[in-house]
Parts: sequence; structure tokens; C-alpha cells
Amino acid sequence: MVQKSVIIIGGGIGGLSLGAMLGKGGYKVTILEKNDTLGGRARIFRQDGFMFDMGPSWYMMPDVFEHFFEIMGESISDYYTLEKLTPSYQITLKSEKKSYRFYADLEKNKQVFNEIEPGAGEVLEKFLKDTEWQYQIAKNEFMYKNYDSIFDFFNLRVMKEGARLPLFKKQKNIIESKFKSEILRKALQYQTVLLGTAPGDTPGIYTLMNYVDLVLGEWYPNKGIRAIPETLEMLCKKYGVEIRTGVPVNEIRIEKNIATGVALLNGEILSADMVVSNADITHTDMHLLPESHRVYTKKYWDSRVLAPSAFILYLGVSGRIPQMEHHNLLFTKDWDKGFGEIFKDPKWPEDPSMYVCMPSKTDSTVAPENHENLFVLVPIASGLEYTDEFLKTYGDKVIDEIAEYYNIPDLKERVVVRREYSVKDFVKDYNAFKGTALGLAHTLTQTAIFRPNNVHPKVKNMYYVGAGTNPGIGMPICLISAETVYKRIQAITDPSPLKEI
Ligand SMILES: Cc1cc2nc3c(=O)[nH]c(=O)nc-3n(C[C@H](O)[C@H](O)[C@H](O)COP(=O)(O)OP(=O)(O)OC[C@H]3O[C@@H](n4cnc5c(N)ncnc54)[C@H](O)[C@@H]3O)c2cc1C
Repeated sequence: MVQKSVIIIGGGIGGLSLGAMLGKGGYKVTILEKNDTLGGRARIFRQDGFMFDMGPSWYMMPDVFEHFFEIMGESISDYYTLEKLTPSYQITLKSEKKSYRFYADLEKNKQVFNEIEPGAGEVLEKFLKDTEWQYQIAKNEFMYKNYDSIFDFFNLRVMKEGARLPLFKKQKNIIESKFKSEILRKALQYQTVLLGTAPGDTPGIYTLMNYVDLVLGEWYPNKGIRAIPETLEMLCKKYGVEIRTGVPVNEIRIEKNIATGVALLNGEILSADMVVSNADITHTDMHLLPESHRVYTKKYWDSRVLAPSAFILYLGVSGRIPQMEHHNLLFTKDWDKGFGEIFKDPKWPEDPSMYVCMPSKTDSTVAPENHENLFVLVPIASGLEYTDEFLKTYGDKVIDEIAEYYNIPDLKERVVVRREYSVKDFVKDYNAFKGTALGLAHTLTQTAIFRPNNVHPKVKNMYYVGAGTNPGIGMPICLISAETVYKRIQAITDPSPLKEI
């Protein structure tokens, strides 16, 4: 049989995992990545003895990673080991100047919840049972499935059990009907930011994220998040995938409505039987497909709800910070105003909520001895404008807040490495539409059947993989996205997860 060839545009988690699957499946695969390093948003950079994971830091849904390795005939432990973080994270409320720790351990969480709000522990236990059921339904019925019509979504089981699936309620309303205290409401709502939405705009089905968070837990690979792209690259190489970096694709070539290859920015033409784009879906549609074969109009893209962009500070700090956990969340006093500044009335947050990851708490390889590695992220609206000078000033403000709320008065003087990263960098590095950090938000009308599909509706042999298509945002979700594209290419219609490649 003639070996079929596939070009994958982009070496992010979606492109690399699909490359490995197709390589194992017997295809001749070439991955073309514009940047000099692989991993996309999950890249790293090194400076002065520090090693920073540039994007993701939460290793969630370990079951999905395990499944990927299983179908590849591999064992995760041959590549990296996982440590469960305990506590999972601490949340500090600016309003109370007080920190709370949460765990992926029901008994410990029940105790924490009951101390804050008597009886809330038992409410949590029942709630997590419901969300477990939702998670299993979502994973087994929706996530690994390809959608071509509304009937693929509303199948018999969903119709029968739909009433138990909070598809049309909002995440915020569900949580607020169960818990009264500020801290518990926030602790159970913040996960929507990982989906790129505000709790009030997030479909209730995503309360399954509470199960992911408080039951499956947060993990850390012993080599850092970089272990994931590095392992995927190893698997690609094992199966003969050709990987080229520093080669931006300029155009997808189409003849008689069939994708035939790509043109690189350097003028080189490459042919293949199939093309898959792992580049952001908006960039692919607006810039890589010839105008005659775009799926959507500019008006369509302008009307999409974009997940936030981010203001990120990578800090190398001398000395230790024992009061910080691996994951630290600092929440603003006015939560609704904060979400408004991101989604409704875009502006730089005056009183920002932020996330501080300190992987050096768990991993001695990410910072020199007696130093800490801090990744600070403030979610901001996509498309915000700024000057370099503004970014520095904003960075100073953020450092001052961390110093105040985590009681590190000399933090600014202890910073030995500092780099700011924001909207313009997401555009430059990833061709991200308006500099969105995550892509299309998971609102109801941008989920499942309503999210851009992973196959071009008219052009044969043209596919999409990664966060912009189904199922959506996040590293494990991109592994699932790769599996659904693999199924399409192999014409596998079974909606359940694969047993093997
Ligand atoms: C700051 C931040 C924090 C995050 N935190 C988490 C987290 O904690 N946990 C989690 O699971 N997820 C997290 N995410 C989300 C997760 O990182 C992404 O959803 C996922 O990595 C996206 O992978 P992808 O393959 O879809 O795309 P990408 O990673 O964007 O990869 C696409 C690749 O295509 C390349 N490309 C673009 N245009 C071209 C072109 N014209 N030619 C060639 N190549 C091109 C890009 O350079 C890029 O390498 C985070 C993301 C960010 C940005």
C-alpha cells in the first residue's frame, strides 16, 4: 500500500500528539513549526540558571494523559513521573487578606468547607458526585467524538439523561445556589478562567471542572510541564515524523477543492496528501487558506468571544519564599468588576486577580539553589493596547501586590530575572487573534457542535487540530483533539475513546 503523507502546520501539543499518532499509524508525517522551538504555548525559556515554563502550569486530567500513552502502546513512567500536589493550591482573598488551602482529598476538603460554612462539606460531597457523573458522560459521550450535525450532539442518551446535564444553566448560578461564603463561591468558580470564560457565561456542564480540580487533582511532572512537549517530540521521532522548526507556513495550497500541500514563507513548496493545521484556527482561516476557501468571514471572527489574553511576569527571585505554595491564586475584592474588565468593558485591571505559580517549591531544577522561580499571570482582555513603558509600570504594580499579600516586603529587591510577556507577544509568537492566550472561549455557542469543526466543510483532506477546534482549550483537551482528527483521517466513527492506534 502507498504510504499517505500528511503535513501538520504547527508543533504545539495538538500538532505533536497528532504527529505521533499518525506516525505510529503508518503515515509519512512532516511537522512545520514557525518558532525555533517546539511545544507552542507550552514552550520554555531559560535565563541565568532559571528555566521557565512559558504557558501551562496545571497538569490536570491525568486520566486523559494516561489514555493517550496507553493507545500509543507506551507507559508514562518511561518518560516522566508525576507528583500529586498537596495542597492543590492556596487561594488568598484580597478582601480578607487571608489564605485558604484546598486539596484533591474529600475528607480534607470537607473539613475546610465545614470550617468556613457549617454543612458545606456534605453539600460538596454530593455536588462532586454529580460532577463526577457529568465528567464521565462528557468524556465518554462528547469529548472523543466528531461532530457533523446537531444530531451527533443530542443522541439518545443525552436526550434521556439531558435533564441531569446542566447544559442550559450557568456555572455561577449552580455554585451560588449551593454555597454562600465568598471564598467557597470563588474557589468553585475560578476554574472557568481555565476555559477562557467568566462563571456567569459558562454553561453549567463545565461544573465538571470542579471534579477535575477537587477529585482528580493537580499534578506535576518531575521534569516540569516541558516534559509533555519533549515526550511528544520523542514519540514523533520514534515513529519517523520529520520535524522542521523556524519555518512559518504562508499558505495552504488547494487544487480543485483538495488540500495538496503548503507554501512556506521562504518560498518553498511542499506537497502532501493531507494538511492539518495546528496553528490558531483564526489565523488558519484568515491568513493561511486562500481567500476563496475561507470557512468564515472577518465579521464572524470579530463576533467571537475570545478567551482572555494575559499579562505574564517571569521572575527569578533570590532566597526562598516558604509562605507560597506551588499554585497560588490571589482574588480581587470586586470579582464581577474584574471579569467585566476582561470580557465586557476591556481595560487593564485596576485591582487585578492573579495567579502565581512557584514550581521551584516542587522542582529544584527550575531555579538555582536558594532561589525561587515565579510565573505570574494576570488575565486581561484580548486586544488591549500598551507601550513597553506601561508594561514595566504594570509589572511593578503586580510585584508590589505580591509583596503585600504574600508578605514579602523586599520582593522587588530580590528579583534577579524579570521578563514581561503580553498581548503583542501572543500575536508575534503564535499568530494569536488579538493576542488571545487561549483561543475561543468555551461559551455555549462556542462549544461542541457550535465550535469550529476539525475538518474543512468543503476542502477535502484539510483538517484542524488543537485548542481552536473541538473539544477545546487545555493540554489534555488538545490530546483528545488529536485523537478525534486521527479518527476522522482513519474514518473511525465510533464515538468512544480509541483502544489503540
Ligand atoms: C499562559 C497560558 C497558561 C496556560 N495554562 C494551562 C494550564 O495550566 N494547563 C493546561 O492544560 N493548559 C493551559 N493553557 C492552555 C494550553 O497551553 C493550550 O490550550 C495548548 O497548549 C494549545 O495547544 P495547541 O496545540 O492547540 O496550540 P499551540 O500551543 O498554540 O501550538 C500551535 C503552534 O502553531 C505554530 N504556528 C502558528 N502559526 C504558524 C504558521 N503560520 N506556520 C507554522 N507554525 C505556526 C505556533 O508557533 C505554535 O507552536 C495555557 C495557555 C497559556 C497561553
